[in-house]
Amino acid sequence: MVDECIFCKIVRREIPSLIVQEDEDSVAFLDISPRSRGMTLVVPKQHFETFEQNRELASKLFDKAMIVAEKIRKSLNPVTVFMSIMQAQVPHFSIRVYPVYKEQIPLFENKPIETTEEELADVARRISSVPVF
Ligand SMILES: [Zn+2]
Repeated sequence: MVDECIFCKIVRREIPSLIVQEDEDSVAFLDISPRSRGMTLVVPKQHFETFEQNRELASKLFDKAMIVAEKIRKSLNPVTVFMSIMQAQVPHFSIRVYPVYKEQIPLFENKPIETTEEELADVARRISSVPVF
C-alpha cells in the first residue's frame, strides 16, 4: 500500500469507485472515463508497478481479468474484449479490460465516451450480476 497512490486508495475505499469484482488479491472497477462501455481496470490489492516486480501476482491478475472479460461479454454483449497492460499515469499495476463494440471496429484508441454516473452505475450492476463461473 502506498499512501498517495490512487489505485491503493480505491482498494482501501478512500476513493469511491464502481467495483464489479473483488477477491483477496484483486479489485476490478469501472474506468471513470471509459473508452468503451464497461471498460474495467483490474488491479492487485498489493501495490507494485510493473509485472516484472511481481510476476506471480501479475499472472493471477490475468486470471481475474479473464473472468471480468467473460462477465462483460455476458452482460454487455460486445463483439470482443481486449486486454492490455499499459504504463498508465497511475504507477500501480493494472490490466485494462476493453470491450469492443461493432461501431468501434476497426479499433483505434478512442476518446473517452460520453457517459453519466447513472449509466456507469447501471453498467457496474450488470457486470457484477453475472455469476462467477
Ligand atoms: Zn498503489
